[in-house]
Amino acid sequence: MQTLIDRLVQTLDKSALFLGDEISEKYSVDWSGADPCKPAALLKPKNTEQLSSIMALCHEHEQPVVIQGGLTGLAGGATPQPGEVAISLERMQGIEEIDTTAMTMTAQAGTALQVLQEAAAEQDLFMPLDLGARGSCNIGGNVATNAGGTEVIRYGMTRSLVLGLEAVLADGTVINAMNKMVKNNSGYDLKHLFIGSEGTLGIVTRVVIQLQPKLKSSHTALCALQDYESVTRLLAELKRSLGSGLTGFELMWDNYYDKVLEVDTRLQNPFTQAHPFYLLVEYKDSSETAGRERFESALFEQIEAGLITDALIAQSHQDAARFWQIRDGIGELLQVLGPVSNQDISLPISELGEFSAALESRLKDRYSNMAVLLFGHIGDNNLHVVAYTGREEDKADINRDIMLMIGEHRGAITAEHGVGVLKRDFLDQSRSPSEIALMKTLKMAMDPKGILNPRRVI
Ligand SMILES: Cc1cc2nc3c(=O)[nH]c(=O)nc-3n(C[C@H](O)[C@H](O)[C@H](O)COP(=O)(O)OP(=O)(O)OC[C@H]3O[C@@H](n4cnc5c(N)ncnc54)[C@H](O)[C@@H]3O)c2cc1C
Repeated sequence: MQTLIDRLVQTLDKSALFLGDEISEKYSVDWSGADPCKPAALLKPKNTEQLSSIMALCHEHEQPVVIQGGLTGLAGGATPQPGEVAISLERMQGIEEIDTTAMTMTAQAGTALQVLQEAAAEQDLFMPLDLGARGSCNIGGNVATNAGGTEVIRYGMTRSLVLGLEAVLADGTVINAMNKMVKNNSGYDLKHLFIGSEGTLGIVTRVVIQLQPKLKSSHTALCALQDYESVTRLLAELKRSLGSGLTGFELMWDNYYDKVLEVDTRLQNPFTQAHPFYLLVEYKDSSETAGRERFESALFEQIEAGLITDALIAQSHQDAARFWQIRDGIGELLQVLGPVSNQDISLPISELGEFSAALESRLKDRYSNMAVLLFGHIGDNNLHVVAYTGREEDKADINRDIMLMIGEHRGAITAEHGVGVLKRDFLDQSRSPSEIALMKTLKMAMDPKGILNPRRVI
C-alpha cells in the first residue's frame, strides 16, 4: 500500500489525494448508513485522464477501490470496506454542452442531478429524471444505479435517458462511447454494461442525456381509494384517458400516510375522513387550460365510476407541493423511526396488493411490536416497504424474511436502489443461476483482479 501511495503522491496534485485525518467522515458511509469505514486513502481526480492514471496504478498494485458519487445510495455500495481506497467524482463537475436542437445534454459524472434539471429548464427543456436526493446525488451515480424516481411512468428509468457515456475500466482504459444519436445499431451498445452495474464494471465519467421538451402545465391531485383493486383499475383508466401525460401515480397505504402526518407535525391532513389508500396523481400537458380540463374530466369520470372515493385537485403550486411533501415524508420518517428494514421491491402490479397484505401479516405473526409502512411508485410496479420493531437485533431477520418472500413470488429484490452490499447475498432470489454466472463472467473479463467495487452486487 505504501508503495502505491508514494506513486500516487508523485502522480497527483495535493488537491487530489487525502490521507488519515485529512479525510472527512462524510466519505466513510453512504446514505444507507451501513457499517461506516474510513477509506485507506481518498482520491479526487479532476478529469478522466487523471482518473485513468489512478486506475492504472491501482490495477498494477491490485488495490481495491470504491467509487463515490453523491453518497445518497441506499444499498451500501459507496461505503468503503476495510483497506479500500475511495475515489470521489466530486471534482469532475460541469455541463459541457446543451444541444437545443437534438435536445441533448452532455455532463461530467460528478454533476448534481438538480444542476442538470435547472440547466435544462433554463433552455425550456426538461431533464426527465427526478428523485428526492436530487440536490446531492450525481448523474454518474444515477447512471451507475440506473436510478428510477418519480418520472419513470412516462420516461422510463435512467437507462432509457442515456444516449452515450464515457467510462474508465479497472485497468485505466478509457471507453469513449459518447454517442449522441437516438439510432445507432453499430455493434454492441456498450453503455448498457455500465448503466445499473453499480460501479462494478467501470467508472462512469461523462454522460450524454436525451432531454425532453418542457411541458408548460402540471396538474396534481390527491385521491382517496377504497381498495387495491380500484388502484389497478384506475391506473388502466387514466393511462387510457390521459395517455403519456400521466407522469405520476404514487400510492400510499394508510399505514404510511398516517405515520408521516403523525411524525411531521408541519404537515396537515387535507382529507377530513380516513381512507385505506391515498394516491398522488400527476398529469402534464402543453396547454394550461386544456390540460386542466382534461385532467379534471378524467378524474370526475372515475369518481362517478366509483373507483375514486374522494379527490382533492391542487389549485396552486403550493397545494401540489403540500401533497408531494406527504409522499416525500419518508426522508423525515427514516430520521426518527430507529432501526428499520427499508426495502424497494418490484412485482407485477396485479400481485402487489395481495403480496403486501400477506407480507404484513407474515411479519406481524413473526415479530412482536411489528409496524409496516407501505408506499411506492405503483405505476412502475415499485413498492417501498419500511418494517420495524424498534429492535436493532430484528433488522437482519426482517430483511431476510422480506427477501425470501420476494423470491417465493419471483419478484425483484430491488426495483431501483440497487443491490450494493446490502442485498448481494439475496441476488439468487431474483436472478437465475445462468444470469448470475454470466454476470460473474463479465466481471472477470472487465475487472480480472477484482479491484473495482469488490463484493458489491455479485
Ligand atoms: C431521500 C432519498 C430519496 C431517494 N429516492 C430515490 C428514488 O426515488 N429512486 C432511486 O432510484 N433512488 C433513490 N434514492 C437513492 C439514490 O439517490 C440513488 O441510488 C442515486 O442514483 C445514487 O447517486 P449518488 O451519486 O448519490 O451515488 P452514490 O451513493 O455515491 O453511489 C451509488 C453506487 O454507484 C456507484 N457509483 C457512484 N458514482 C459512480 C460513477 N460515476 N461510476 C460508477 N459507479 C458509480 C457507487 O460505487 C455505488 O455503488 C434516494 C436516496 C435518498 C437519500
